[in-house]
Amino acid sequence: MEAKKVLEDLKRRFPGEPEYHQAVEEVLSTIEEEYNKHPEFEKVNLIERLCIPDRIYQFRVTWMDDNGNIQTNMGYRIQHNNAIGPYKGGIRFHRSVNLGILKFLAFEQTFKNSLTTLPMGGGKGGSDFSPRGKSNAEVMRFCQAFMLELTRHIGPDVDVPAGDIGVGGREVGFMFGMYKKLTREYSGVLTGKGLEFGGSLIRPEATGYGTVYFLRAMLKTKGDSIEGKKVLISGAGNVAQYAAEKVLQLGGTVMTMSDSDGYIYDPDGIDRAKLDYIMELKNVYRGRIREYAEQYPNAKYVEGAKPWGEKADIALPCATQNELNEEQAKTLVANGCIAVAEGANMPSTPGAIRVFQEAKILYSPGKASNAGGVSVSGLEMSQNSERLSWSAEEVDAKLLWIMENIHENCVKYGTEPDGYVNYVKGANVAGFMKVAKAMMAQGIV
Ligand code: NDP
Repeated sequence: MEAKKVLEDLKRRFPGEPEYHQAVEEVLSTIEEEYNKHPEFEKVNLIERLCIPDRIYQFRVTWMDDNGNIQTNMGYRIQHNNAIGPYKGGIRFHRSVNLGILKFLAFEQTFKNSLTTLPMGGGKGGSDFSPRGKSNAEVMRFCQAFMLELTRHIGPDVDVPAGDIGVGGREVGFMFGMYKKLTREYSGVLTGKGLEFGGSLIRPEATGYGTVYFLRAMLKTKGDSIEGKKVLISGAGNVAQYAAEKVLQLGGTVMTMSDSDGYIYDPDGIDRAKLDYIMELKNVYRGRIREYAEQYPNAKYVEGAKPWGEKADIALPCATQNELNEEQAKTLVANGCIAVAEGANMPSTPGAIRVFQEAKILYSPGKASNAGGVSVSGLEMSQNSERLSWSAEEVDAKLLWIMENIHENCVKYGTEPDGYVNYVKGANVAGFMKVAKAMMAQGIV
C-alpha cells in the first residue's frame, strides 16, 4: 500500500469531507510500514475495505416545534466496520454535523473499539439538529422522529448507538422509549441509558475518568503523577466534567473550562464545590460557562477564545474536533506543558500533533485516551445481555484495567528507537491489526 495514493483516491471519490480525509491520513501514515509487512493484506485490498464504510443511511427528520412550525433536519447512521462485533458508536446532535464529520468519527471509532479488548465494531450517527435553546418537549419530539427512521437500521446484535455531543441521558432516554414502543422489544439497543432502565453505573463518568487514567499511566512512564499539576480543560460537557472530577480526586488543579462561546480561567482553581456549580449550570439549567465568572468574580471569562494560552502543566481537550491548532500547541509547549491527553475526538490538528511530538512531550490521541466511554458502553451491553447490573466498584475496576491495557499496547507498538512513545502510531497499529486479522479470516465480504 502507498498511503499517499490511497488517500488521493479517497479524496477524489469522496470530495468535500475534510475531517474524514484528515482522520484517514493520520491512520494510514502510521500503519503503512506495518501493513506492508503483510502482503496478504494488499492482495485482498484490505485498506480500501477498511477505509470506506460498510454502509451509510441518510434520512430526513421532520418534527413540530412549540410554535406549531414544521422543522426538518438531516439524520445519519454510518455503519463503518463490523469485523469484530456489532457496529457501535455514539449519536451527535449539533448544527455542524454533516456526512464528512460522521465518517471521520465512525472510522476512528473502529480502531478505538478494537483497542478496548471488547467485541465491538465501529459506527457513528447523528443529526444537524441542535438541542441548544430547545424546550424539553421539542427535544423529545425530535428524538422520537429521529428514532422512527433509525429503528429500522439498529438492534442489540446489529448496531448499538450511544451519546456524544448534544446527546446525553435525556436524549438517550427519549430515543430508547421510542425504539421500545416501535419494536415491542426490551433490549440493550442503546447505551448510556438511565440507571433505572438498564444503564451502567460509571457510564456517565467513563470517558472523563478513562482519559485521566490514561494520562496517569503516561505520566507514570516518566516517574511523574497528576498530584500538584495545573490542568487546562476545554469543554464543560460530559467528558470535561468527569475529567475535571478525576483530576481533582488525584490531587491536580483544574484552571479552565469552556463552551462554544468562550472559556473561564480561575486563578484559585475550580474546586469540588465550583465543579458542582458547573455541573448544575450545564446539566440542569443548560446555562453558559460565562455565568461562572459572575458567580466567582476572581475568575475571568474570555469570549470567543480557547484556553490554550493559559500557563499550565497539562492540557485535556474535551470539547470537539480541531479545537487546538499548531500555534496554540506551540504556546502550550513554550509555557511548559508536559502532557496532552485527548478526551475529545481529534481535537488537535495535524500541525498541533507535530508540535507535541517534535517537542517529545507526552501526547495521546482520542482513540486511545477517550476509549473509556465506549468501553463502559460495551460493559453496559454485557450487563443487559445477562440481565444483571454490576457495582460501581466493579465497573470502575474494569475501566481502569482497560485503560491501562490500551496504554500498554500503545507503548508496545509505538515506542521509537530513542525510547519516545508515539502514542498515535501505537494506537493505530494495535487497533488496526486486530480488525485486519478478523477481516482476513472472514473472507471477501
Ligand atoms: P457534550 O455535548 O456533553 O459537551 C460538549 C462540550 O464541548 C460543550 O461544552 C460544548 O459547548 C463544547 N463544544 C461543542 N462543540 C463545540 C465547538 N464546535 N466549539 C467549541 N466548543 C464546542 O459532549 P461530550 O462531552 O459527550 O463530547 C465531547 C467530546 O468528547 C466530543 O469530541 C465527543 O466526540 C468526545 N467523546 C465523547 C464520549 C462520550 O462518552 N460522551 C466518548 C468519547 C469521545 P456548548 O455547550 O456551547 O455546545
